[in-house]
Amino acid sequence: MKITKVPIPDNFIEIFKSEGIEELYPPQEMAVKSGVLEGRNLVLETPTASGKTLTAELAIAKALEKGGKAVYIVPLRALAYEKYLAFKKYEFLGYRVKLEMGDLDSSKFYRVDYDILVATAEKCDSILRARTDFFLGTKILVMDEIHLIATDRGPVYEILITKFKKLFPGIQVLALSATIGNAEELSDWLCADLVSSGWRPVKLTEEVIFGEDKFMEIQKTARKSILGGGQVLIFVNSRRSTESVAEKLGSNLKMQNYGSMELNNLNDISGKILKALSSPTKQCRRLGKCVKLRTAFHHAGLVNKQRILVEDAFKGGLIKVIVATPTLAAGINLPSRTVIIRDLLRYSKRGMDYIPVLEYKQQIGRAGRPKYDKFGEAITIAKSNKEKEFIIKNYVNGTPEPIYSNLGVEPVLRFHILAAVASDFARTDKAIFEFFRGTFFGYQQNPGKNFTKIPGDLNDYDFRPASEYKKNNFEIKINKIIEELKEWKFIQEIKNFLLPTNLGRRISELYIDPKTAYNYIKIMELAEEHDHFPELGLLEMLCDSVELPRLYINRKEEAGLWTQVAGSEHELLRRLDAFTLDATFLERFKTATVFKKWINEYSENAIMNDYNVAPGLLNQKLQIAEWLCYSAGELSDILSLRNTKREMNKLEIRLKHGIKEELISLVKIKGIGRVRARKLFNAGVETVNDLRDADVKILEKLIGKKVAGNLKKELAGN
Ligand code: ADP
Repeated sequence: MKITKVPIPDNFIEIFKSEGIEELYPPQEMAVKSGVLEGRNLVLETPTASGKTLTAELAIAKALEKGGKAVYIVPLRALAYEKYLAFKKYEFLGYRVKLEMGDLDSSKFYRVDYDILVATAEKCDSILRARTDFFLGTKILVMDEIHLIATDRGPVYEILITKFKKLFPGIQVLALSATIGNAEELSDWLCADLVSSGWRPVKLTEEVIFGEDKFMEIQKTARKSILGGGQVLIFVNSRRSTESVAEKLGSNLKMQNYGSMELNNLNDISGKILKALSSPTKQCRRLGKCVKLRTAFHHAGLVNKQRILVEDAFKGGLIKVIVATPTLAAGINLPSRTVIIRDLLRYSKRGMDYIPVLEYKQQIGRAGRPKYDKFGEAITIAKSNKEKEFIIKNYVNGTPEPIYSNLGVEPVLRFHILAAVASDFARTDKAIFEFFRGTFFGYQQNPGKNFTKIPGDLNDYDFRPASEYKKNNFEIKINKIIEELKEWKFIQEIKNFLLPTNLGRRISELYIDPKTAYNYIKIMELAEEHDHFPELGLLEMLCDSVELPRLYINRKEEAGLWTQVAGSEHELLRRLDAFTLDATFLERFKTATVFKKWINEYSENAIMNDYNVAPGLLNQKLQIAEWLCYSAGELSDILSLRNTKREMNKLEIRLKHGIKEELISLVKIKGIGRVRARKLFNAGVETVNDLRDADVKILEKLIGKKVAGNLKKELAGN
């Protein structure tokens, strides 16, 4: 179908044409034929890069034409930003395109008017907790990457859809999915049509090769691809491997000598990578060196700035090879002619496991750059002939697994039950059951339909036929959670109605697990009572939450850590007894110890060397800790724990900037971070007033001419 024949307004068609889109891709045409432009619900299940976004844009255009608004939900912040930039073009047609992905405290939410809203799922859910009317007029809800419903980020996806359907009956739901094993089930739940297709814009060849020396095979394949004008993406299963493979390929392939070079640009990027942190770590230097050799590694240990530099340099063709952990496959759009999978095995709690077919398909789905490549090639390397056969049978010819809801896990249910009560979605236990029955989870375990047996954690549901069904295990579980929330005084029952307490409402707004809040409140009340706020103890408390992934502990560290625990018992807020010393205590202690180093101004490099925590990972954990610290402060406020509130506020700033208490007033000034603040303080400039009084020449020496100049200007302005 020609784009000009699609029944949407001409100005949209003009935009698509200007982007070189002439014909709809076959799955897009199927979607149009299925009635997606008439407002019908649709699950579009096609491979990566087969143009799902455009289908959504067509449907959005139609909704806007009818005077409606559109909400586009993505799973990750990086993706939200990417889509927002892609949709900004609609501002030229006079539509308001907005992005929501920040702060999750819904009490701080202010109204934003939009026609097209791109948001992360969590942010959207958080807004719904504050203001449901914000979404009035929304005609279409697009759920991107809905196969992620099966991951730990998934439950909020189901909750969102369920809430939207309840609030706005008749809203159109368009779910975009990679290939999954049970798309019918998904579309049945959504009352949607299903368009399912394996079509891809660039042909893909899948091959499995066996080589005694995996690295040699990688090198051979990469060289061939690059000499033919390609780029290479290599997936391995550990961060350490990404680094060693990238480094070795860089020096062996000698790509600096391939054709005309833009070595200056590479040097420039390499320099920026080194400067991403105040003091470069071993990892930064290693990455900088790789980039000069036109390779890079990509994993969660990189800080955002570096990740983006690497991705852009790859998209621009400067970097030829990226060696990545599989997180890359789920994230941003980074196609490459050649994809090499070195490891199908991955570390898990139980040892080594084969990855799901779904993930394999996502990884190979990155092969083939539309516009540049006639074909994409995916090559998996087997370590034996036997494994080669296994891979061909189970992966190349295998079908992706069905996906299952993750909502039935206790912390997740607890989190959403409190929210349902606090934000008025359900006021009785029956209404709560009803609400959860509307989710994918409810659908998958619903008595009376043909069950898909739910694995793992979700095993304990009632599979009796509807006639025998009274209260199933799911409802018993919900009741148990309601009782618990009552006991914790987060909800109360008044005349058979469930209502939130002030505390409960605030916890729901703060977007934290009720159990986390309960854990914090216990410790904070104790601290307030004794007026005792040691930093290690507060940090250990913050780590006692499902939100914060704790650091792992290896066997070798264990004894040393216990010695440290014994030496710092007075710095902890909980008494150490059999009850507090649960399996996670040592992990909490270690994580808190690392945070303590950070707020005592240890460099990222020192933390990396002493604890093997890469800067990117440290940043992620610190961001969560900062948010939890803010939340703890808000809770102490509601409970009138005044001293605790003061301490949490200080700790929040210290976590954010990585500083001792004495620098707090300095970092509040724009342009001053931990390094500059320390220099100033050590030179006797300790407060804002000192700064005002200080001689500009002295300031210039301490923090550079430009910053000093700006600072003086800003202070003069106040
Ligand atoms: P998906 O969401 O399925 O991963 P995208 O929507 O990101 O795929 O599309 C991949 C690329 O294909 C984008 O660059 C997009 O502009 C392009 N594209 C989509 N549909 C068409 C089309 N009908 N004709 C030409 N290019 C298209």
